[in-house]
Amino acid sequence: MHAATRRAIFRRLREANPTPTTELLYGSPFELLVAVMLSAHTTDRSVNAATRQLFPVANTPAAIAALGVEGVKPYIRAVGLYNTKSKNLVGLAQALLERHGGEIPCERAALEALPGVGRKTASIILNMVFGHSEVAVDTHIFRVANRTGLAPGRTPREVEDALVAGTPPEFLKDAHHWLILHGRYVCVARAPKCPSCILRDLCEYPHKTRAAARRRVGVGTAIRRSGKRVRRAARG
Ligand code: SF4
Repeated sequence: MHAATRRAIFRRLREANPTPTTELLYGSPFELLVAVMLSAHTTDRSVNAATRQLFPVANTPAAIAALGVEGVKPYIRAVGLYNTKSKNLVGLAQALLERHGGEIPCERAALEALPGVGRKTASIILNMVFGHSEVAVDTHIFRVANRTGLAPGRTPREVEDALVAGTPPEFLKDAHHWLILHGRYVCVARAPKCPSCILRDLCEYPHKTRAAARRRVGVGTAIRRSGKRVRRAARG
């Protein structure tokens, strides 16, 4: 894809949504870290439903550690993989207390060394909490980057590297949220909404969907229908 096209794509995304952000609910860096960790393989909606219950009870590393694995489970039961996530959540809280004085570290290596924190979660924290120009590639971004031709790649890491290398610096900080929201609501997996997509003339996807054809009504059918209307009108 030509650099000018990439720039045009991000310009349009910015025009449509100048201040994109996550749909996860959070009120502190630790709450964001917990919410992002819980969001693996599940929807933001189910994470928000769980954290609405959990955070009023425990929203600090000390409080989560005090709750313990069995204490955390009831709050996140509706979130997928809750057994593993409960263990990771308490492990994460304990590790933050033991290694970082209860604070969120600002280096990738330290973040990825925390239980339940992988590259994607670390990238989101570095981007949203510390203002780094990181792009966390999830399933939505992977799809949008490949379909549009913005940053083709066979793996999330390849797409991430292509996005970081090819996105104009002024758009890099928000690229993650623009692309995730575009993939979640417009460039959806099964039937992308190409006819109403603001990127359709810039996107290189060869299988764009078309607007549903309006049902054709034959001349005979039209005459019969108008005849019925005339008769109904005559009956008064
Ligand atoms: S035109 Fe279609 S395939 Fe391309 S980004 Fe828009 S929705 Fe996705």
